[in-house]
Amino acid sequence: MNRQLFSFEFFPPQTPEGAEKLVAVRKQLAALHPEFFSVTFGAGGSTQDRTIETIRQIKAEGYIAAPHISCVGSRRDSIRAMLNDYKDMGIKRIVALRGDLPSGMGSIGEFQYANELVAFIREQTGDHFHIEVAAYPEFHPQAKSARDDILNFKRKMAAGADSAITQYFYNADSYFYFVEECRKQGITAPIVPGIMPIVKFAQLARFSDACGAEIPRWMRKTLESFGDDNESVQAFGLDVVTQLCERLLAGGAPGLHFYTLNQAAPTLAIWKRLGL
Ligand code: FAD
Repeated sequence: MNRQLFSFEFFPPQTPEGAEKLVAVRKQLAALHPEFFSVTFGAGGSTQDRTIETIRQIKAEGYIAAPHISCVGSRRDSIRAMLNDYKDMGIKRIVALRGDLPSGMGSIGEFQYANELVAFIREQTGDHFHIEVAAYPEFHPQAKSARDDILNFKRKMAAGADSAITQYFYNADSYFYFVEECRKQGITAPIVPGIMPIVKFAQLARFSDACGAEIPRWMRKTLESFGDDNESVQAFGLDVVTQLCERLLAGGAPGLHFYTLNQAAPTLAIWKRLGL
């Protein structure tokens, strides 16, 4: 059997205290020997320097760091410069995205879709980077249709992506169906499920509304019933997400990518339960 791919995602911390806390979080998660740590990137410029700084730190600590790069609102020159900086830093892995411009912010720039960014990275840097792209088992909210979304995903893979990480979801069937449809389209690359631990219901509901990841009704109703009792929210979340991970791995998922929210405990708890 192939080695399973586990990875952890962070957002760039906003304060020195946040950065310090993240060093400790990384240390705890590094003990699980992940394939890489990735760091998100704010489209439209909001957090870009902090992404680069966090990547530099992760690299300096001796871990494999994978920056996210989004292209919406960007010019070719600035993406080229960033790729060169990452190459010089010894970065070998990139998560390539379109991104979403914050509302009211500028023009879409020189790239419209992620497949154009993937093609540009390959054109500029050949095979230097392992390129990850995003996949949507419950379909991207702006997709014209489910079929179109899969064909657009295929376009990204054909442009030179090596593997994909999915948006989070709580319905394992959506993932298995998506992977099956991709295989029918001749996409053979690993598609790693993105896992969102459940820490706070209000926050999760907000994320889910924005990105189109469904919280199934039975879960939403149960989580709502806990009100401010966060302990119960987390205990329920741990049960549900662990079972989801078990099903995914048993069903052939090539690994798991955790959206850590810059906290070690929720991911560690799932990991422990999984007995990995
Ligand atoms: P695309 O693949 O370009 O798809 C966007 C939409 O356009 C889809 O509806 C697709 O069907 C359609 N489409 C694609 N190509 C074409 C085409 N050629 N013609 C017509 N339609 C097309 N956002 C950030 O800002 N920063 C991050 O760090 C970040 N990290 C993420 C990590 C993961 C693993 C995931 C799943 C998402 C992440 N996002 C991040 C969110 C992501 O940027 C948004 O979901 C964004 O709306 C779409 O990005 P994409 O790369 O999937 O876009």
